[in-house]
Amino acid sequence: MSNKVSLTTQNRLIIFGLLLSTVLIIAIAIFAIFNIQKKLNEGYHNFGQVISKTLAIESVEITKNLPANKMQETLKKHSESILKSHNDIVFIEFRDADGNIIYSGKNQLASMNKTNIRVTSPLTAIGETNPIGSVTVGLSGSIISQISSTTRASLLFVFAVAWLVFAFVILINTYLITRELRILQHGVKKISTGEFGYKIETKDVSSEIEELFNAFNDMSARLHIYEEQNIDRIMLERNKFESVLMSIANGVVVCDDNDNVVLINSNAQNLLEVTESQFLNTQIQQYIDTSGNECFKDKIEQFKDTPLDIIEKKPIEFNITVDNRVIKSIISPMFTRNKDYVGYIIVLIDMTKEAEMDKLRAGFISNVSHELRTPVTVLRSYIDTLHNYGDEFDEPTKKEFIGTINQEIIRLNRMVNDILDFSRLEANTELEKEQNNIETLIEECAKQVDVLTKERNLRISVNKISTPPEFMFNYNSIERALTNYLSNAIKYSPDNGEIKIILNYSKDKDEVEVAVSDEGCGISPEHQKKIFDRFYRVENDTHTIKGTGLGLNLVKTTIEKHHGGRVFVHSQVGHGSTFGFILPTVIVEETANI
Ligand code: ADP
Repeated sequence: MSNKVSLTTQNRLIIFGLLLSTVLIIAIAIFAIFNIQKKLNEGYHNFGQVISKTLAIESVEITKNLPANKMQETLKKHSESILKSHNDIVFIEFRDADGNIIYSGKNQLASMNKTNIRVTSPLTAIGETNPIGSVTVGLSGSIISQISSTTRASLLFVFAVAWLVFAFVILINTYLITRELRILQHGVKKISTGEFGYKIETKDVSSEIEELFNAFNDMSARLHIYEEQNIDRIMLERNKFESVLMSIANGVVVCDDNDNVVLINSNAQNLLEVTESQFLNTQIQQYIDTSGNECFKDKIEQFKDTPLDIIEKKPIEFNITVDNRVIKSIISPMFTRNKDYVGYIIVLIDMTKEAEMDKLRAGFISNVSHELRTPVTVLRSYIDTLHNYGDEFDEPTKKEFIGTINQEIIRLNRMVNDILDFSRLEANTELEKEQNNIETLIEECAKQVDVLTKERNLRISVNKISTPPEFMFNYNSIERALTNYLSNAIKYSPDNGEIKIILNYSKDKDEVEVAVSDEGCGISPEHQKKIFDRFYRVENDTHTIKGTGLGLNLVKTTIEKHHGGRVFVHSQVGHGSTFGFILPTVIVEETANI
């Protein structure tokens, strides 16, 4: 648009310049012609006066002392000879002092011409003051008109040529400048469309314009370098931003103020089970969770209905469920540095574990209360019976009663110990370690559970593959870990089953492996993954088999956190399980304190 306007202005200027120069040249031409004509007329007038004066002097001289009749004839002769020799003289007229015509002769050749100038001179004899008559010469002015028309034509021609040359020069010059400006304009257009580095050809241009073109090319090259540097910087910033976003453990979804998704990190893609290409540039409200609900829709509406200053201080929080995963979603507004609202950001936090943990915790409390209530009820009733009716029972019955009381107390004690151990082991206090013999520990543990195995008619054996050296460990905690494995094996073994304790030492790896295998019900792979989690129980909803879900977690904490080892389980449903732990015989300081 602006270019068109500037060209029109330029054209107007050219036209105005040409018109002005035309007017000036015409004015100068008219002035010159007028002046020349005036001078010519004056000269011609003078010429007429010279002729008439000369004629007057000659006529006085040649008619001096002649009689009147001779005088007329002499004047006639003289006049005719003059008329013949000058085509421009139309007539000659002599008058006496009274004004009467003495002689009047006309030029036959010039008779067709009009008399334009009349010049009269007095006829005065030499030495006399009074004129004796007058002579009038009539001039046609044909010479002068010829000279003036020739002069006018020549002048007009000269001025016309000069004007044409001038106009031509102006037009050529304008064309050349315009052409160069067009090249420059083209270059500027390229730059404005982002084609930095575009070069203008500097060949065949005037030196001033060449300088301008060189400056333009220089500027374009600098812009190109700047752009590359800028792109590098922007890419670096973007990469940094992206890697920060990608490494955030939570999901992040960024939407513009039209609810279009403009950014989604990989964690959000995993949580929402979408791909970036599917999700980008779609409306967040349209997202459908696994149960087919538009789970963001209502909350986005609520977000939009709430004033920004309130929402900024208290973002909207809600839970959504995608494929059995509980995802906490937090919507907060986004502002530029100038505090202009540009959209919102949704942070997604996987709360599945926490939700499960809450459930497990609730189960644990219910289990613990149940586990505590049962032995306490049993104890109360047995002790009550013994106290009130003890005398009525024989010795073996009393012994059986006391045996049951003893067993319940042992179980109660174990449970209370488990709970105490749990908080003790969870704390970061380091367990004291000494050089101990793991074989002795295994034998003692086997002895401890002897009564329980006999009750169920279970066989227990120790299978030593290689003999380990003594090494540093906390005796009591490892003993409790192995007892845990053993009591679980007993608990879940069928009557008459076999339980094996396997001991292996790897000298190469400096590791001792202890495993307990049973022929029990086994555990499915899905449960195996979670079995070492705290409070986790396979039979969580029922109280069929007693327990708190703490035992295996205590083993894991003891082995991994306090001894730098690892725990494992191999199991097949219906075929039994093998639970074990591996302990390093050479303790690396850092792992010991984990
Ligand atoms: P609990 O005190 O409830 O037994 P544990 O942490 O010791 O808690 O065990 C967690 C779960 O692991 C138990 O609920 C049980 O289902 C399963 N489990 C442990 N040991 C065995 C085993 N030897 N055979 C089958 N299931 C087992």
